[in-house]
Amino acid sequence: MVILTEPKVVISPEHCKSCGMCIQFCPAQVLELSQEFNQMGYHPARYTGSGCTGCGICYYACPEPKAITILRKGCTADD
Ligand code: SF4
Ligand code: SF4
Repeated sequence: MVILTEPKVVISPEHCKSCGMCIQFCPAQVLELSQEFNQMGYHPARYTGSGCTGCGICYYACPEPKAITILRKGCTADD
């Protein structure tokens, strides 16, 4: 468990349907489609690992309610 020193976006691969809306609307351009498949056969979106500002635009753009979580600076995270 770590305390985040910067915002972080967490995407649940199994809830993503690979529509690409989050990627299209992220102003920081820090999201991409994974080469992996989820259990439904989609390539889920994933965080490239740095540069998320925590703006939340991807969260509001995503049609899948459980796919995206935004963690603010100071939140605790698994890694
Ligand atoms: S919170 Fe903002 S910067 Fe971070 S991934 Fe989502 S749209 Fe991009
Ligand atoms: S907007 Fe949601 S469902 Fe679409 S690619 Fe991004 S995380 Fe997946």
